Amino acid sequence: MGNKIKMECQKHIALVAHDNRKDDLLEWVDKNQDILKQHFLYGTGTTGTLVSQKIGLPVRTYKSGPLGGDQQIGSRIVEGDIDFLIFFWDPLEAQPHDPDVRALLRIAVLWDIPVANNKASADFMMTSPLIQQEYERTIVNYQAKIKIDER
Ligand code: PGA
Repeated sequence: MGNKIKMECQKHIALVAHDNRKDDLLEWVDKNQDILKQHFLYGTGTTGTLVSQKIGLPVRTYKSGPLGGDQQIGSRIVEGDIDFLIFFWDPLEAQPHDPDVRALLRIAVLWDIPVANNKASADFMMTSPLIQQEYERTIVNYQAKIKIDER
């Protein structure tokens, strides 16, 4: 049994897109803005700025991804301040900050937050009834795991 963390009805959603995927993310945000504006939005520097400038939604921005923005978002997930991730990463081009990308995806899985890496996943997540409801995430009970390993 893992530890439980409650997600409120209003989610704290991080938006991140690599350069070749920014147009797709902006189009998706534009289509889903009526739902998204009911939640709190965060983003890496360029993605977040584009969303607020082109679509007009309020976004709390962090540094640009290659400058550590992915790591900042990862740390906010660990702190419990961000609990939902829409991350359109580029499957066709290596990034200078690929280790940070991998770290962010690992942290998102570890902390059991919903993650969409493409449009179809994001569409399914946004239309889930759970987007408007409270939800209990399940986190690995690491202390118990350590005790078991020590036996
Ligand atoms: P950006 O960062 O929004 O600042 O472009 C995204 C990323 O590369 O992770």
